[in-house]
Amino acid sequence: MAALKLCILSSEIMPYAKTGGLADVTGALVHELALLGHEVRPFMPLYASVRRLPDMSRVAGAEAVPLDIGGVTYEFSLWSARGPDGDPPMYFVDCPPMFDRSAFYTTDPDEHRRFLLFTRAVIESCQRLKFAPDVFHCHDWHTAFLPLYLKTTYAWDRLFAGSRSVLTIHNIGYQGIMPADALPDLELGTEESRLDQRDLRFGLINSLKHGIIYADAVTTVSPTYAREICETSLGMQMQGVLRARAGGILGILNGVEYQDWDPRVDRYLAARFGPEDLGGKLVNKQLLAQGCGLDLPASAPLIGMVTRLAEQKGIDILFDSLPRVLESRSAGLVVLGSGDARYAEFFAGLAVRFPGRVAFRSGYDEALAHLIEAGSDMFLMPSRYEPCGLNQMYSLRYGTIPIVHRTGGLADSVQHFDAAQGSGTGCVFEHYDAPAVHWALNTTLDWFQDRPAWLRLMQNAMAADFSWSRQVREYESVYGRVLSSSA
Ligand code: ADP
Repeated sequence: MAALKLCILSSEIMPYAKTGGLADVTGALVHELALLGHEVRPFMPLYASVRRLPDMSRVAGAEAVPLDIGGVTYEFSLWSARGPDGDPPMYFVDCPPMFDRSAFYTTDPDEHRRFLLFTRAVIESCQRLKFAPDVFHCHDWHTAFLPLYLKTTYAWDRLFAGSRSVLTIHNIGYQGIMPADALPDLELGTEESRLDQRDLRFGLINSLKHGIIYADAVTTVSPTYAREICETSLGMQMQGVLRARAGGILGILNGVEYQDWDPRVDRYLAARFGPEDLGGKLVNKQLLAQGCGLDLPASAPLIGMVTRLAEQKGIDILFDSLPRVLESRSAGLVVLGSGDARYAEFFAGLAVRFPGRVAFRSGYDEALAHLIEAGSDMFLMPSRYEPCGLNQMYSLRYGTIPIVHRTGGLADSVQHFDAAQGSGTGCVFEHYDAPAVHWALNTTLDWFQDRPAWLRLMQNAMAADFSWSRQVREYESVYGRVLSSSA
């Protein structure tokens, strides 16, 4: 395919800002698409935590650019910094009143305004850079108004005459819903009629919905999730608009950046290992146990979790089942997570109830996340729904057997182990309830006791390949498709 000009805009991109899988995926896309020879220009907000990058410089011609949002004139400036490991330079939209906050995302009343500004600042930066992307690739609700802006506010600009837009939905649970009285903030003038009028009558404006309606292509992050959001309540009220799209919704499974997430090269690990030499895994298990204050017999299995503490992640079905498993089996548990207090309290309570066997670390810790992947025997992901999920794929590469609910990308990346055939890579449970996860935990702990079966399972898991190099070709074909169709 001929080299394309691609503008990737996202509220988080690795390695600059990450709260979850979105950052891993946008960072990987930048890297992989550039490797394929495309001209990739990534944009993200200049958050307070990013401000300290050493080699950042202002972009001439894009300084103190005025932008009206709801009758207030803001000013933004564009900065750029050298990309990591030969990646293309990153562009940062600087607007301190919007992005110098204590967190990337807030519950402040102007949250929608922050990302409307970001979205329009990206378009206006392209104008100033005289950069005419073939494709604007938007991610999640934060940038979902871009397709509509291209067709309205910026339709006059011939620079974008050939530009198309792609929206990727990483999690349809987050839609960027604002009250209807935010209407002036969109600065759409007479084009307000293009907004969903029914929602407006109900007093709402839904950011993601307008991306779904106006993007030239919509993708999501696994084939099963694509089906689920169109056909079931997991579409979170978006089933109708999703199904109304002529071209449908394409599910492209996320990939893994194996240069970051492979125990043979993982820079966070003191002891590296691979399928031919599993000795290092035990060293990591000991280091993890020591570091977290666990005191487990060498033969005891260790279950790991790294997760946002959010309802989506399925912790509710562990409330009964996990204590029962810990009472009846000798397993240990280590959990790293941040988010809702009630889930944090649950895990902190388990740590008190099972001293030396359960450890809970609250917060965000990249190094510990890698060590948990490497040092645990099994990895628990009981998500109620999971658009793709990355940790189960990381786990596979580390020989850490995933225990997952059959939903979304978990269903697409883990096959239930068949001990008789020796096939499969993990434990997959069907129903989202406590008995099912209880069964899954016990089943996996039983497999662990059968050493030949467990070794086979580990080898199967470690052989699974979810390289980005394959998945990124699917994005290339989406770009090719939107460019060959008329606007
Ligand atoms: P989601 O994006 O819904 O949170 P994913 O599985 O797609 O779920 O991606 C989660 C990413 O965030 C993984 O790379 C995971 O390791 C990381 N992560 C989640 N919580 C933490 C945490 N508390 N500390 C470090 N990394 C975390």
